[in-house]
Amino acid sequence: MKATGEGTRAAAKKGGRPKSETIFERGRKILVGGVDSPVRAFRAVGGTPLVIERAERARLYDADGREYIDYICSWGALILGHAHADVVLAVGEQARLGTSYGMTSPLEIELGEQIAKALPSIERIRFVSSGTEATMSAIRVARGYTKRDLVLKFEGGYHGHSDSFLVDAGSGLATLGITTSPGVPDVLAKLTLNVPYNDAEAVGKSFNDHAGKIAAVIVEPVAANMGVVAPAPGFMEALREITKRDGALLILDEVITGFRTAYGGAQRLFGIKPDLTTMGKIIGGGLPVAAYGGRAEIMEMVAPLGPVYQAGTLSGNPLAMRAGLATLPKLGAAGFYEELNRKSERLASGLKAALKESGVAGQVNAVGSLMTMFFTDGPVKDYASAKKSDAKMYAAFFQAMLERGVFIAPSQFEALFVSAAHSDADIEKTIEAAGESLKAVARES
Ligand code: PMP
Repeated sequence: MKATGEGTRAAAKKGGRPKSETIFERGRKILVGGVDSPVRAFRAVGGTPLVIERAERARLYDADGREYIDYICSWGALILGHAHADVVLAVGEQARLGTSYGMTSPLEIELGEQIAKALPSIERIRFVSSGTEATMSAIRVARGYTKRDLVLKFEGGYHGHSDSFLVDAGSGLATLGITTSPGVPDVLAKLTLNVPYNDAEAVGKSFNDHAGKIAAVIVEPVAANMGVVAPAPGFMEALREITKRDGALLILDEVITGFRTAYGGAQRLFGIKPDLTTMGKIIGGGLPVAAYGGRAEIMEMVAPLGPVYQAGTLSGNPLAMRAGLATLPKLGAAGFYEELNRKSERLASGLKAALKESGVAGQVNAVGSLMTMFFTDGPVKDYASAKKSDAKMYAAFFQAMLERGVFIAPSQFEALFVSAAHSDADIEKTIEAAGESLKAVARES
């Protein structure tokens, strides 16, 4: 990391207009807001968004040649870091054999088997191309299977951008302050129930009010789109019990937590067996892959075996399958998660110590290699408490970190992701940068 002099944002500014700014300006004339996904626009933190030309291991390099220790890692997809040699090799090899077949290949079967072995609740799987497709399809199957219409999710939970989930959602919606997206018909929004995360009583009450009408509860087993919030002890168990009793399905949205919190996902970590699971990010090794799966009896509702329709031109794409297949065995190796979590714990404890030393009121919520710093006095256990965090302070902290060559989430309502490519030295530099940044924030506030 170049903390001073050539290579930093400040130095680039001194040398005239940074190339990144010029490129972003040009981009704004053709891409909506200059981006293809809202959180990339830095609306919550200000400044020119990053324009990236290259990435390697735990580093991003922008159009001005400035380097950043990257704690986004493609929003959690790159648990091995950027451009891992084996992933690059596998994708290159596959490209020569064809980039898309539009027919079944052995690669999909192999990846499906590996995932099912890691998450035994998955008896049948269907690959798709994004987490949004996975959750959208899972809810369709749940509705088809139960012949019920209501869906219960949690305030600040994010499950992609299909209509049913854009109600009181986290991630970019929380960042931009959108509660229900215009364009979602009222009649549909009314079918989505929202209760506070970690509030099993509220879930029970909702089921009392709508007995026999809720198709599914969908939940992030570790919430990561309101910032990181761990499930309270007993919360997941309560969801399993309540849904079972009522005949509703439990869908664990493991798009972030799958192969992140443990090889078998959060369901392995917490010992919960869902009816359906949605996954994405890591299983595609940085290429567009996601999946939904679960009990055979439910999944066999999906076409061609059943009448619930779902399809995809690029589903099970061979390039993407090869990237996933190059990634998963590395995660299955002995000690992978112990090592990742050891580094992550060092980072979390370093951030906590830096907060304490700076005198700034804050919290670090961490579950393994997922974490978020909140600028608030009290504990953060749901969306309401996450929203108490001082957004201005978060923005100032973000900018101070970026100046020091560390890229964290450009929004309070996102997670920071540690990868296997982050070295101990990277972690120590990050802690040092956080200490300086927090002191700067404290001086300015
Ligand atoms: N579910 C969860 C828990 C997510 O975090 C996300 C995206 N971050 C999605 C679903 C949607 O995935 P995608 O962006 O690939 O559509």
